[in-house]
Amino acid sequence: MALRRLFHIGPFIALFVTFTCYSVAVIDSYLWLAPPKYSIAGGYNLMVLTVWLALILHNYFWAVIIGPGFVPKGWRPDDKEAEKYLQFCHSCKGFKPPRAHHCRTCKRCVMKMDHHCPWINTCCGHLNHSNFVLFLFFAPVGCLHALIVCVMTILYQLLWTVDLYRRYPPTVNFSVNAFLANLIASGLAFGTILAVGMLFYQQARVIISNKTGIEQWIVDKAIDRAMTNNSGKFVYPYNLGTSKNIKQVINWKCTPVGDGFSWPVVEGCTNYSLSIEQLEQKREKMQRLVLFEVTECYSGWWLPCTKGIRTCCCIPFSDEPRIALKIGDKIQVSRGTKYWLYGNKVLTQEEEADGKRVRGWFPKQCAKRLGKVSELDDNADYTKKRK
Ligand SMILES: [Zn+2]
Ligand SMILES: [Zn+2]
Repeated sequence: MALRRLFHIGPFIALFVTFTCYSVAVIDSYLWLAPPKYSIAGGYNLMVLTVWLALILHNYFWAVIIGPGFVPKGWRPDDKEAEKYLQFCHSCKGFKPPRAHHCRTCKRCVMKMDHHCPWINTCCGHLNHSNFVLFLFFAPVGCLHALIVCVMTILYQLLWTVDLYRRYPPTVNFSVNAFLANLIASGLAFGTILAVGMLFYQQARVIISNKTGIEQWIVDKAIDRAMTNNSGKFVYPYNLGTSKNIKQVINWKCTPVGDGFSWPVVEGCTNYSLSIEQLEQKREKMQRLVLFEVTECYSGWWLPCTKGIRTCCCIPFSDEPRIALKIGDKIQVSRGTKYWLYGNKVLTQEEEADGKRVRGWFPKQCAKRLGKVSELDDNADYTKKRK
């Protein structure tokens, strides 16, 4: 199961870039830049390059194989009383422990979910956070080393060609193909340093504040809510201080602290403080839901040409799904843009019992507004609120 995650375009690209940069840097060092037979430094250079590769691959494969830690399907807390503080996942038919979220790509609830990463083809979560972050650290470091080797090789060989600088006689001639390979490897290495370096910076902030990307979003809304409702300052429960926060993820064993279900919290908070806040936010969201009835079919295509040029030009800038609609469907809409709406399709009781959930964007012109869900007849099927 875990190894199957590697057979995907994301891991293929990540491993292709890693091996290309490493191979070109090693060939450069061996043939042109610092052949070990001429200098001890050349031998060290090759050894350090290989150490970077080993550290990158070790953390990469570990992050993929260990996975983020999935919540068992149908999970319930031991304390039945605690159920009222937790969100229920209809897909997994179980409660979500504090800090867990459902990933629609993995189709499972993930412990302390940060995000779904296409490069490891699984989520970054509780169990693989440490290896994932170390991979994000070593990949730019290794690529920087490879970039320096490639650029210096090109430079020395150009200087050799015009007879300006002679260091070691090249083992083989530096051909046009070698020059192109170095250009490609340099570009890949430079791109990786920028892109993965940026990701590392984001993850460093996540670890220092002990606040995942999803939790940052919840906290932003909690602060807004506290200001609007005059309910005092919102206290984020998991910020234990920089040093303790870092130790939760990064330690010599690369083993995360905790079981993924309960977490140390600051004084005055409980393990359920954030879950309770999420339930409150969800309740307020339900109050704002507007019911729409579908009046025009929609195929679920990302560029629905038949729905007008403006709808096509103003597609939502998001990877969230688009939902196919047929006339008569009811949608509970939570947000929208000028030409698109986002909401949950109202399902039959059998579909809901199967854990089915249809949520996504559709063109605004395909549906007409019926009114706020909270103001419509509570007994009607389509206003039925989710647990
Ligand atoms: Zn779930
Ligand atoms: Zn995922």
